[in-house]
Amino acid sequence: MNTFLYDVKTKCPVCGREFTYTKVRMSHLKVLERRKDLYTKYDGIEPFFYDPIVCPNCGYAALSDVFNNISDEGKKEILSKITTNWTKRKFSGKRTPQKALESYLLSLYCSQLKNDKDIIFAKTCLRIAWIYNILNDSSNENRYLKISLDMYKKAYEGFEAYDGEIQLIYMIGELNKILGYRDEALKWFNKVINHPDRKNHSLIVNYAKDEWQSLKI
Ligand SMILES: [Zn+2]
Repeated sequence: MNTFLYDVKTKCPVCGREFTYTKVRMSHLKVLERRKDLYTKYDGIEPFFYDPIVCPNCGYAALSDVFNNISDEGKKEILSKITTNWTKRKFSGKRTPQKALESYLLSLYCSQLKNDKDIIFAKTCLRIAWIYNILNDSSNENRYLKISLDMYKKAYEGFEAYDGEIQLIYMIGELNKILGYRDEALKWFNKVINHPDRKNHSLIVNYAKDEWQSLKI
């Protein structure tokens, strides 16, 4: 097995069965590049490929942070819409871009079935766009970037107290920039630069200043 990877056991909150999934030893990784859309390129591995945990027994999938957040109603939906048609298959071990895509698309479908927060949809779609970028599929990349932008905006509009607000505003700016909506991007980068919490988020504020500058040239 790849030395960056290790296996852990967990119990599925939907079907109740134990299974093994694979995690990444982040401390062993070397950063090659940090992009302004907050994607980080590492030497020899794509750690974000391993974020969705997928139960091989019932097909329930979710980003690792929210894997155990599921209501009884959500469980029923997964069991009736996914598990009944599910063919048991392996998601542990090394993930190719195609396997990562399959994991994320399943996770996105489960998010719809269990009514996850908009921010979860936004993050999931952004990462799906990153995978399509790796696969050189620009039309699907663009499609998921647009959905991600819409979901980040929805998350911002329905905002409740949450300490990641400034990152969320930044991502709305950045996605507008990538998609070519210059004026919108400038508006959102300005919101980051003047945000009341800017002193506690210097990295993001500096990114916003750089991006604002690059659009003004
Ligand atoms: Zn399960």
